[in-house]
Amino acid sequence: MDLKVRVTDIPVTGWDLSYDLTPEETEARLVNIEKDLIRFFTPVQVRLKLERTGNRILVRGSISTGYLLTCSLCLEEFNIRMSEEVFSVFTPFPEEYIDGEIAAEDLNEEYYEGEEIDLWPLIREYLFLGMPIKPACRDNCKGLCPICGQNLNKKRCDCSSQVGHPGFSKLKQLRDSLPKK
Ligand SMILES: [Zn+2]
Ligand SMILES: [Zn+2]
Repeated sequence: MDLKVRVTDIPVTGWDLSYDLTPEETEARLVNIEKDLIRFFTPVQVRLKLERTGNRILVRGSISTGYLLTCSLCLEEFNIRMSEEVFSVFTPFPEEYIDGEIAAEDLNEEYYEGEEIDLWPLIREYLFLGMPIKPACRDNCKGLCPICGQNLNKKRCDCSSQVGHPGFSKLKQLRDSLPKK
């Protein structure tokens, strides 16, 4: 699906765009490191209104979808539904920027070069915006037992009772190392 829009095609009255990107289409656009993190189970629904003032294009709307993540604690897959409000402005790529004289301080500011704006980088940005850095399947995920690997959300294991509290064994070591009277 072509997600590029010719700036001059945007009517003064605004342009409503609606895309449904299938999971396959979306994943094909991701780089490998992203593909390892995320798996879509439902299309990415993009609903945008483009409005042009001179060479500035205001993009508003929403992006919503659902994807599977792997819990960083228990390694089970779980699903997330996301919906982000979009608000961004595209402006022509400034000449000075090439010399590194100005910095992009506004997060909602996107640049375009030439006659076209490419909506994919914007969509991609919003897709990953709400993604947790350390995904957890639930607030109180118990994770895996570090000794036997048992998923502690499903079943307890006996490892913890055998090992004892690490703090106590430290104390015992300390006591044993003290000179005896
Ligand atoms: Zn978990
Ligand atoms: Zn265990």
